[in-house]
Amino acid sequence: MPSYIVGNWKMQLSDQDSSALAKEVARLWSAQAASRPQVRAVVCPSHLALRAVGEVLRGTNVALGAQDCFWEEKGAFTGEVSPKALKELGCEYCIVGHSERRQYLGETDEMANRKILALLKQGLTPILCVGETREERDAGRRDAVVIGQVRAALKDVALVGTQRLIVAYEPRWAIGTGMPCSPDDAASMHQLINDTLAEMFAPDVAERQIAVVYGGSVDPKNIASYLAVPIIQGALIGGASLKAPDFAAMCEAASEPAK
Ligand code: PEP
Repeated sequence: MPSYIVGNWKMQLSDQDSSALAKEVARLWSAQAASRPQVRAVVCPSHLALRAVGEVLRGTNVALGAQDCFWEEKGAFTGEVSPKALKELGCEYCIVGHSERRQYLGETDEMANRKILALLKQGLTPILCVGETREERDAGRRDAVVIGQVRAALKDVALVGTQRLIVAYEPRWAIGTGMPCSPDDAASMHQLINDTLAEMFAPDVAERQIAVVYGGSVDPKNIASYLAVPIIQGALIGGASLKAPDFAAMCEAASEPAK
């Protein structure tokens, strides 16, 4: 299983800026990537920029991901984008259930579940985001919230053949705040998620086909402290993924011998 370094560009860049960033990421990382197959670099631009960024990344060692999708293949669903359309644009990954979508757009675990099933059907790898709010943590509900999200979003999901899944533990209070969760704290949540996955999937499937990564104010300075924890299998990165040298440096950190 590789270490996944995933950049979530959110709604931060224009079409042109997205292509320019992708070019620079590919230039910086491709020079090293061939000798570092244990790292999988993925960038997730806005839907608007997927086609252009996909063209820039074709033939490079940086994979394309989307930030969201709908669960139907086709039909009268104004404003939505299907996994099939994402696949046609070259996407291999898609974020699902990001906390910003849960907070601002009412995305639920049930919606995330439908999206995951639809993505797997098209051969894309879902990146499921789970994590508690500050209030839930302070009320002692952290574990129950995260276990509940994992169980509901992965209901009836079976990984067959080469299908893969990434679960990102992203405590909401750590996203975009510059206040990351400590590596020890993240490690204990990863263990809890792994235990939940082991109950839901056959042990070899959970081990070989599901990666659990950390997200929340990761940057080039702190990433090594997360990746030093063996059960943290990569990072989902927002703000710090918008600078190509920083993103390449974080990919490099994931290729250190400890991983
Ligand atoms: C994210 O958007 O998933 C994220 C983790 O953002 P940031 O790295 O900026 O906290």
